[in-house]
This record gives sequence, structure tokens and C-alpha cells, in this order.
Amino acid sequence: MELQIEDKLVKVIKFTEGNICDRCLGRNFSKSVAGSGNLERGEYLRNKLEASNQNIPKTGSCYICNDLFESLDKMTNNVVEVLKDKQIHFSNFLVGSRVDSEILKREEQIHKTFDIDVENIKKEINREIGKELSLRLSKEVEFDNPNVVLMVDFKTGKVDIQINPIFIESRYRKLIRGIPQTKWPCNKCKGKGCEKCNYTGKMYAETVEELISEDAIKAAKGASAKFHGAGREDIDVKMLGKGRTFVLEIKEPKIRDIDLKKLVETVNKHAMGKVEISEMKFVAKNRRAVIKESSRDTYKIYKATVELENEVDNSLLDSLKSMKIINQRTPIRVSHRRADKIRTREIRQLEYTKVDSKLLELVIECEGGLYIKELISSDENRSQPSVAGMLKTGARCVQLDVLDVNI
Ligand SMILES: [Zn+2]
Ligand SMILES: [Zn+2]
Repeated sequence: MELQIEDKLVKVIKFTEGNICDRCLGRNFSKSVAGSGNLERGEYLRNKLEASNQNIPKTGSCYICNDLFESLDKMTNNVVEVLKDKQIHFSNFLVGSRVDSEILKREEQIHKTFDIDVENIKKEINREIGKELSLRLSKEVEFDNPNVVLMVDFKTGKVDIQINPIFIESRYRKLIRGIPQTKWPCNKCKGKGCEKCNYTGKMYAETVEELISEDAIKAAKGASAKFHGAGREDIDVKMLGKGRTFVLEIKEPKIRDIDLKKLVETVNKHAMGKVEISEMKFVAKNRRAVIKESSRDTYKIYKATVELENEVDNSLLDSLKSMKIINQRTPIRVSHRRADKIRTREIRQLEYTKVDSKLLELVIECEGGLYIKELISSDENRSQPSVAGMLKTGARCVQLDVLDVNI
């Protein structure tokens, strides 16, 4: 052993009056002395000291950890018990730990005093419990994206389990009007429940979100779910075609490997005639943000029924086809919650059918984010150009369907 290291070793033993456990001793020399682990390294160093008559025997508890490592087995057993008790299914995990802050302070003091730069005690605890659990549970330790985080608290002896969410992607079609995409709390009681909302706390009895997530939560034995849509349609708008992409985030799922085929069937049975979902697949967390981002770049096809104030010449109707670039100021109906800005979107194609003298049916293929109702009414000239402007008469969208998204 290098003289410098031996010198440091003797100093540490003196400083702790011999009261340092083999693991803490080994850990402090983990970068300077070879060995298969801190325990073995510590034993080796003790023997070295013994051989050179410089050892001070350990007579009390470890100066650094207060003999915390002696309770490692007990804590590992606790983890196994809690996991069994809660019946959580997972395939990989990560261990975290909480220890008395005094332990960390004393360790830091040793590091500073003797200029030692090694991992701290928590890393060793986490690794040792992780190794043992991996063997006993036949599951892998995963650092980046673990299914569960097992938090072992050495101060209270308790084990906390943080179950990370699962993410499922699919597409939904909304077959009827009057259902919002996501939960909408009662605007009078803010969700507490009042006379107006019949003590449901909700503005609408059903939402696309709930029609899908209730069965998903049940299947995964989750605590709750969050619905992330690639954009949204208004309550009174149907979502047809291939449907709209969404990611469902199920929080604290006790079961992760749920049968998605069966879930699709269950949802479609329960929501029959209202909402229909297509094939589901498990996705990574980042899809949540990706689909939200991409919803702006996609093209959409709408079918709009338009009521005109006055009859319009057929020749004028053709001018609708010339609308290409639309500049829209934030619509009045959303201006209370969105910044007043000009939004520019493109129309790819617009076809019209005259249903009767004052009723048109438009099929509009356009960039995502174009406000269709405002494109038709002009929204007090905030949409330029607009159907009303082109036809020189009042126009109102009386019915709207999304025929396709992401084309
Ligand atoms: Zn120790
Ligand atoms: Zn209410």
C-alpha cells in the first residue's frame, strides 16, 4: 500500500478511535485501494492495520453510520413485505433512501478533514439493497426510467413505494355532439358539487376522457388518469374519420402489463354510440408532449353546415374557393383565457355544396389550429378573409364535424 494512503488510513482510525465499520472504512478508500466491495476492502484494511500494530479495535458504534448497515437486511425484508402486501406488479425498480442528516454531516466531515472524494453512504445503501432485491425478486434495477422507486427510510423504518405512470396511445372518434374532451368542473361550485350541477361537480355528465379512462384505471388498478389529446374539438363538434390521437397517462398502476386488446373492447362496449377508440399501444412518457406539439402541424378536414343571412348569387359562392391564407385574431369566445394574437393558417382546399338557398355545406381541408367557426362568421372582422366577408352577408356555423386529423 502506498505510504500516503497508509498514513491517511491510520489518521482515520485515530480520528474515529477505531469506531468505524468495515463498510464505511472500505468506502472511504474505494478509489485508492482495490477490492471487490467496500465490506471486503474494509476487512482488508483492518488486517493491514493489525499487521502493522496500528489498529485500534472497534468498541462502539460506527462514527459515521452509527452501525446502520446492520439493519440493511431488516429494511430489505420490509421492502419485500410491503411489495407483497400491496400486490404491485413491475419488472424493474430503483432504490432510494433517507438517512439521518447527522450521518451525512459526519461523513462529509471525514471527507473534508482527510481530503477524501468518494461516493456517499446513500449510494452504497441503495446499491446494496438494490442488489439484494434484484436477487430475491428476480427483477432488474433500472436507473433512468424505473417502474417503481422504493424509498427506504432508515429514520422511521418505513418503506414508501412510488409507482411511476404508464402511457397508452390510441385514437378516439367522437360520434355524438355535446361531450367535451376532458373533465370540465362546474363553473359555479368549481367541482365541489352544488344544485346547478346536481352535486356532480361537473358541467357535463360524460367526457371523452372519462369514457376511456374509467375502464383503463380499473384494468391497471391505477389511482387516477390524465388525458392528453393531440388538440381538441369543441363540445358540439363530432370527431370522425380515423379519429384523434391521444395519450392516456395512468397514475400509480398496480398492474402495468394490462391486456390492451381487451381494454379497447371494454371501452368500446361501454362508450358505444358515443366514443370509439382504435388499437392501443404502450408508449414512452415523451409521446405525451410529442402529440401535443404535432397537433399544430397536422392538416385537418372539417365539414361545416353554414346558415346564411341572405341568399347569395352562385357566382359569388365560387369566390370561397380562393381563400388560402387566413389571418385570425384570437376569437372573442376564447379571448378571456388566451393572449390576443394574430394566427395565420392555410386552407388547402375548400369545397361547397348548396343545400338550399340559405344553407351551405363546406368541406374544408386546412392546417391545424384554424378557427373554423370564426372563419365562417368573421368574428367581427377578426378573421380575414372569412366566409361572411366573401359572401357579403352574415354567416353562421350551425354544425361542425372533424372528418379527419393528421392527413
Ligand atoms: Zn459505518
Ligand atoms: Zn356545481
